[in-house]
Amino acid sequence: MEIIKSEGIILKKIPVLEADVAVVIYTQNHGKRTFIFKGIKKTKRRSQAAIEPGSIVHLVYYYNDQKSMFHVKEISLLQDTASIRDNYQAMITLFLLLEVVEKTSGQNDPNLTVYKLLKGAVDTLHKTDAYTVLALSFIIHYLKLTGIMPDYFHCSLCHKEIIDDLYLTEYNLTVYCNQCAPHNSFMFKAIAPLIYDMLSKKFLDIEISLYNSLDIQKFLFHTLLFIDHYFNIHIKTKELLFHNTLY
Ligand SMILES: [Zn+2]
Repeated sequence: MEIIKSEGIILKKIPVLEADVAVVIYTQNHGKRTFIFKGIKKTKRRSQAAIEPGSIVHLVYYYNDQKSMFHVKEISLLQDTASIRDNYQAMITLFLLLEVVEKTSGQNDPNLTVYKLLKGAVDTLHKTDAYTVLALSFIIHYLKLTGIMPDYFHCSLCHKEIIDDLYLTEYNLTVYCNQCAPHNSFMFKAIAPLIYDMLSKKFLDIEISLYNSLDIQKFLFHTLLFIDHYFNIHIKTKELLFHNTLY
C-alpha cells in the first residue's frame, strides 16, 4: 500500500451505504479514480462541500493496485462551487463538463492536459455568463485532445476552405461546404470563425457578441449527439441544457 497526495476535481458522487459515499475524482496525476468516504454524511459541512461535483480538492489517499476504490486519509477544499450554486445555467454547464469527462475517460488513465482543460473551464465558469459558448469551447478542445476533432476549416469532399457557414450530417462530424453539403445536412451559420477563435484565443478574449447564440446552441447539441454516438454513451445533462429550446 502506498500513500499518494494529489490534486483532483470531483466528477461524481455516488451514495453507497447509509453513511458512506463513493466519489469519482479526476486526479491530476493518475486520471479518473474512485474513492470511498466512510461516514462522510455525519462529518462537518466543509468535508461535505469538498466532495460536491465541481469542487477542486487536495487529497491524500491509500493506493492499492488490487483495489478499484481507494480510502481517503485527508481531503481539503481548494475551490468550491458556492459562488455559482444558485445559478442554474452555470451549474448545468458545470455538470455537462463533468459528465462528459466522467463518461468518456478510463480509470487510471492520466492526461494532464485534460485535467488542466477541465480545471480551466471550471474556473472560467465563475468569470463569464456565456455558458453555452464556454461549454462548446470546452468540448471542441476536448475533441482535439481525444484526437477526434475533424478539420472544421476544409470541406471533406472538395477541400475548399470554410471560412463562414459549415454543414454537418446527423451524428457526424464530417464537414461540408455549401456546395457539397448533402440534402439531409444541417447548416451552422458562421460557426467556422467562432471555432477558429476558440482554438486560437483565450476564452475570455473571444468577442462572443459577434456570434449567433442559436447556432452556437445548435452546434453544441449536435456535437454532444456525436459524442453520445461515438463513445456509445448518453450525456444526460444535454437535455437539461436545452430543455427550454426546440431540441
Ligand atoms: Zn465542398
